[in-house]
Formats: sequence, C-alpha cells, structure tokens
Amino acid sequence: MTTRELDKEYVASTYKRFDLEIVSGKGALVKDENGKEYIDMGAGIAVNTFGMADDGWVEAVTAQLCKFQHTSNLYYTEPCARLAEALCTRTGMKKVFFGNSGAEANECAIKAAREYGITKKGEEYYNIITLKNSFHGRTLATLAATGQDVFHEHFCPMPEGFLYATANDCAELEKLVEENKVCAIMFELVQGEGGVNALEAEYVAKIAELCEKHDLLMVDDEVQCGNGRTGELYAYMNFGITPDIVTTAKGLGAGLPIGATMFGEKAADIYKPGLHGSTFGGNPVCAAGALHTLSRLTPELLAEVKAKSEYIRKALSDAPGIKSVSGMGLMLGIETEKPAGEVVAQAMEKGALLLTAKTKVRLLPPLTIGYGELEKAVNIIKEVCKI
Ligand code: PLP
Repeated sequence: MTTRELDKEYVASTYKRFDLEIVSGKGALVKDENGKEYIDMGAGIAVNTFGMADDGWVEAVTAQLCKFQHTSNLYYTEPCARLAEALCTRTGMKKVFFGNSGAEANECAIKAAREYGITKKGEEYYNIITLKNSFHGRTLATLAATGQDVFHEHFCPMPEGFLYATANDCAELEKLVEENKVCAIMFELVQGEGGVNALEAEYVAKIAELCEKHDLLMVDDEVQCGNGRTGELYAYMNFGITPDIVTTAKGLGAGLPIGATMFGEKAADIYKPGLHGSTFGGNPVCAAGALHTLSRLTPELLAEVKAKSEYIRKALSDAPGIKSVSGMGLMLGIETEKPAGEVVAQAMEKGALLLTAKTKVRLLPPLTIGYGELEKAVNIIKEVCKI
C-alpha cells in the first residue's frame, strides 16, 4: 500500500490532508515523493523555526540523543535546567513548567490561574476571561477556553468557568471583569487560527490595567506567535506589557514537541510539588533542541524577521486580487478576492506551500527563509491571487 493508502486506512480521520507526501527537506524547501520541490511558507504551522533539517539544530539534538534520551522528572537533567534558565534570563520570568504541546502549556496556565484566584480571593474566583475568535488547544479545558462555538459543538458539556470577550472592546472587558468573579484574562496577542489578527495596543494596555487593578493573572498565549515569530523574542515585547504567565510551544522546539509555561513574579510560587506534572515534560532531547533555538534567536535574526515581514507586506499589499495583509513579523494573514482554499491549492501546484486561517491565506515561513525563496513564494502568491 502507498503512504496515502496506509494513512487513509489506519490513521484516525481527524485531519483533512493535502494530496502531498513530504519525503525530505532542507531549510525552507521540501520535496515530495516525485522529487518536486516546494517553498515551505507554513513551517509545520510555525514549528520549524529554522526550516527542515537545520544543521545546527540537528547537531544539538543528536548530541543529546547520543548521551541519553529520557530520565523522567524524578531526576535533574542539564538541558531542562539550562533551558529554564535561558527562558527566564531572556524574558525576566521567574519559573518555567515544561510540557509537550501548546494545549498542555495552556492547561498548566489555566490550572495555575484557578489556584491563584481560589487561594487568594475565594472558591468562586475561578472564572477566566478569554477572547472570542481565540484558539487555545484541543484538550477539554483549552477547548472551553477557545472562544469559538464551533470547537465546542461535539464535546459538551464543556468545563465551566470561561467568559468570552470581544477583542478590542475595552468597555465590554471592563464590564466583564467588574461583574464576574474572575481570576485571569487569557489572550493571544496575534490570534493565529482566528485569522491572524493582532490585538490593538490600546486593548492590550486595558488588559494590563485591569489585571493590575483587580489582581488578576495576565495569561499570554504565545504558542503560535512566540519564539521570534513577530520579530521580538516573545510578542508581548512589542506591546510594553509584562504578563504574569506566558505559554509557548510550536517554534520553541523547532521541530520536536515541547511546551513551556513561564511564570512571572506574581505567579512564580503557585505550583507546589504534586500539583501538576507531565511524564515527558522537559525531555532532554527536546530541551536541547529548544536551547539551541533560543541561542539562535539573536537581535540580528529578529531584525531580519521584521525586514522580511516588510518585504512580504510591500510586495503583496497592493497586488491585484489581494485586499489586505494582517499580522506581525512572519505571521501574516492575506485577505484575498478568491477563496483562500483555492489560492492555497493553486500555489501548491506552482510550488509554494501556504496555509489558511479562517477566510485568509496564512504565511508562517521558517524565520531563516532566504530572500530568493521569499521572492519566488511571493511571486507565486501574486500570480495565483490575480482574478
Ligand atoms: N494556542 C495557540 C495560540 C495555538 O495556535 C495552538 C495551536 O495551533 C495551541 C494553543 C495548541 O497547541 P498544540 O496544538 O501544540 O496543542
């Protein structure tokens, strides 16, 4: 049987796949089974920070793999400790919990927020405000946190304790905080799955103000927009705020599964031994990969991310068939005259792999993509967007 046939027969049918099997790759280029090459403008949905099989990352990961692969969290391991140190040093956060995915990082944040509210203010203070159109994961609690009914439909009853605010409506947010028993506000600074929309600076400032005033935890979900994607190490650094909890995953591991929940001063001591855990969390191989990722996210690379973003925006903004470009850094959403799915399918034919987010075409290329590759991809996008 072919890979496609085996997959259709034996893999649970949760994904609608493109008619494409990837068999190899290097940097921003991937090849299918017939040797056809594609420019990868999706990077495994913001995961492959340096593209495919990056030499430095492969070396860091294999060096650890050859030493030992796993110990359990009963023992100290250097990659895990050093990664926590690097994250705290680069962000000013105080402690880190490691899991394996974005959803797990957010579960950890949700539990921490509830523990904070309940211990500090009383047992009814378990409500978390999240935003409409958000996406926080596929576990039951993170689905409930996700402010989109369509994700809740098949799995009710949802865990309770989530209130949904309209992004960028400051007055509504203030009312929600004042009229409910709330422990945290949780948000994506750039909503990824929701259509690549950055929050307005004024709204972000309002979140910070309300968290301060009402002693709420500010929980910043940077699973997709973190790790250099917006041109700053973490997206909150573009907004002049200091969240109490930052969650991340995807690009941190650059291709291996790791999630991190970072706790600032206010949240650093919420967890005590036994309250939370994860068998694979802080796995030494994944941690070694993540440590390498952080070491490469230098001011120079971050400046390049911003420059490449400008390049794409400039090339696409007034192109025929393109209505608008949203997002930040190398996390961009393109509103097209044609349906986004059609654009993505036609671009694949021509050798560029794009993504969608709601009704938009979404770009999340490796941060190290070259200008030659970007130019080719942008030309393909322009060509297929023309009506
Ligand atoms: N949070 C955000 C903002 C995301 O974009 C995603 C995934 O797309 C998640 C959480 C869930 O991450 P994971 O699929 O690693 O569980």
